[in-house]
Amino acid sequence: MSKKIIVIGAGIGGLTAAALLAKRGYTVKVYDQAIIPGGCASTFTRRGFTFDVGATQVAGLEPGGIHHQIFTELEIDIPCATYCDPACAVFLPGESIPINIWRDQQKWQEERKAQFPNSEPFWQLLKLLFKVSLSFQSRNPILPPRTWWDLLQLISAVRLDTLITVPFTLMTVIDALRLFKLDQDQRLKTFLDVQLKLYSQTDSQETALLYAATALSLSQAPQGLFHLQGSMQVLSNSLVKALQKYQGEIFMRQRVETIHTSNGQVTGVTIRNLKTDQLWQEEADHLVANVTAQNLIKLVGRENIPFSYVKRIDKLPDASGAFIIYLGVKEAAIPTNCPPHLQFLYDYQGPIGENNSLFVSVSKPGDGRAPQGQSTIIASSFTDVGQWWKGSEDDYQKLKEKYTEEAITHLRGYFDLTPETIIHQESATPRTFAYYTGRDLGIVGGIGQRISTFGPFGIATRTPIKSLWLVGDSTHPGEGTAGVSYSALTVVRQIEEHK
Ligand SMILES: Cc1cc2nc3c(=O)[nH]c(=O)nc-3n(C[C@H](O)[C@H](O)[C@H](O)COP(=O)(O)OP(=O)(O)OC[C@H]3O[C@@H](n4cnc5c(N)ncnc54)[C@H](O)[C@@H]3O)c2cc1C
Repeated sequence: MSKKIIVIGAGIGGLTAAALLAKRGYTVKVYDQAIIPGGCASTFTRRGFTFDVGATQVAGLEPGGIHHQIFTELEIDIPCATYCDPACAVFLPGESIPINIWRDQQKWQEERKAQFPNSEPFWQLLKLLFKVSLSFQSRNPILPPRTWWDLLQLISAVRLDTLITVPFTLMTVIDALRLFKLDQDQRLKTFLDVQLKLYSQTDSQETALLYAATALSLSQAPQGLFHLQGSMQVLSNSLVKALQKYQGEIFMRQRVETIHTSNGQVTGVTIRNLKTDQLWQEEADHLVANVTAQNLIKLVGRENIPFSYVKRIDKLPDASGAFIIYLGVKEAAIPTNCPPHLQFLYDYQGPIGENNSLFVSVSKPGDGRAPQGQSTIIASSFTDVGQWWKGSEDDYQKLKEKYTEEAITHLRGYFDLTPETIIHQESATPRTFAYYTGRDLGIVGGIGQRISTFGPFGIATRTPIKSLWLVGDSTHPGEGTAGVSYSALTVVRQIEEHK
């Protein structure tokens, strides 16, 4: 009889693991508390508009990329998508001409030379580290290793060129800037900070250099960032289709409330049907948890996990939340030749976050997100989650209104936003994310990619409980639909090894 696997959560990490395991002959059941699959990469519709909830662009869809590789293995169509070029137009404080991150390597190099004179050696180092890291990652190392088998997988992915990265393992981006005497270049540093905050939750001061090399190079050819035709939902819908093609099952509005263990081994779960409020238990040989590391502790119970693991998770630096405004507008609100993604930083003061920066995604005519002659604008900023859970409901609503007004005021600097051009307006806060994605306090984006949390020092997919696996953006190699797909692939290989 085939082994029974329960997957908690139908985010991209959970669905990828589930579909691959079903294809390999396991009996797979996915339970998700939400109404639709996709988690942070799902969508919702309002008045003819389709809004991407969180993720708006996808890496790894090119031939050889992680999504491409997985879709090919699952024998399902690669979703239709176009390259974002520029991947992003970045506006630094007080500047009206953006720094365009072009997909073409040559064009991006020329842009860099014009924008940041003397910085080329730094970019060339990133390019070298990215090339080596990418080919290392393509050999599916297991990071961080927790058993001899994991270690063997890690060692077998190492080649002579991988050793180039060794001296840089403990360096941050600011260390590399210092190496090239660029650490006093405020404009370059700020540009890197806004980009890094987006991909690694932290800035150049703290981001691990090897992670930054990948995050900052992924948007150039032959890789690239993609805009999906239809919406982000296409990604999870395709994975659900693949899961069902291989006899896997998915159940929505079903929340796993407890993970059961016995003698350090997972045994099953308690599930609540959110439609009927009925509770029941189900046994499993393996459990794949597509939740945050913080949620995992709550599901298992602190007393049932080794103390050192709980302490490690408790001590992680505070994760960020997101404030997002979703606008359905008339096309007249959008400037001509508006790039699909823009990033604005509004002042040089203080850390990036709390409404001094916005990452903006704009739909394109015919991309399936808005009726003809209309568009969607989605703008997000980082926010400290704590403040959204304090005080009364009235305090919460006031804070939400304040953030909404500030975001609209900022966006008016670029878009023509008036009562006549705005058709629909709605905001999401960490409370919204907590409700719709089940993430404790509404934290998003994983655990951050600092030296202490990246690669060999990250959170492993193999947990201290036997047959309990963690997938998603808490684990290596971090956030993003591509990142969580790598972690899903790792878990699938680890479960296969058990067999
Ligand atoms: C504002 C924002 C913008 C982003 N932009 C991008 C981008 O442009 N490109 C990109 O690649 N990434 C982006 N990301 C990051 C990306 O969306 C996430 O890293 C990724 O989608 C996370 O996937 P996941 O599988 O780890 O988990 P999630 O998406 O969090 O999915 C987890 C699933 O588990 C379910 N669940 C949780 N607990 C339970 C439970 N107890 N029982 C049952 N079900 C449960 C949830 O309902 C959810 O469906 C963005 C994120 C945000 C918030």
